[in-house]
Amino acid sequence: MAVELPDVVLTKLDHLANWVRANSLWPMPFATACCGIELMATGASKHDIARFGAEVMRFSPRQCDLMIVAGRVVMKMLPVLQRIWQQMPEPKWCISMGACASSGGVFDTYAVVQGIDRFMPVDMYVPGCPPRPEQLLQSVIDLQEKIKKTGTLMGREFAQRTAYEGPKTNAAIPEDVVVAPGDYTKSRRISLN
Ligand code: SF4
Repeated sequence: MAVELPDVVLTKLDHLANWVRANSLWPMPFATACCGIELMATGASKHDIARFGAEVMRFSPRQCDLMIVAGRVVMKMLPVLQRIWQQMPEPKWCISMGACASSGGVFDTYAVVQGIDRFMPVDMYVPGCPPRPEQLLQSVIDLQEKIKKTGTLMGREFAQRTAYEGPKTNAAIPEDVVVAPGDYTKSRRISLN
């Protein structure tokens, strides 16, 4: 039996944009250790992340809007992670997958980042060592709900996390800026030269 659809549908533009964004997340896989294997399993046929519209893994940050950090991040790797995050266009979200990405896990050493949220904003944390693919899928579902509930077309929900909260300076920002580890709001700092 044919279903009769209405000629006109009214909705808020924000709701429409959120619905589209939530169901077409393109992940940037940042897999550095064993959690990455579970991330791969999530994309494989048994768990099939495509059921949630998030199967289009891209290795170009400019085409991604969902950073999935799967595995421990060492201090040497941190600038790379930050650079990729900065290159991803807004609106963008981040899932911290596993104990290592979220807290350093068992690697309580000076060389391992004790939680990536010290250096970049995280929307969802997935516990476990390693988390099961089902857990990662649940975090994608939860993130979709969050986007649908809090998202705005103009990205007002990100105003808080992108507002610079560091020390103020009256000095002019020079042209030759450098990346400052730890400052994800601006990829620059004042040069002393
Ligand atoms: S949380 Fe466990 S499985 Fe994941 S990267 Fe760390 S040690 Fe490996």
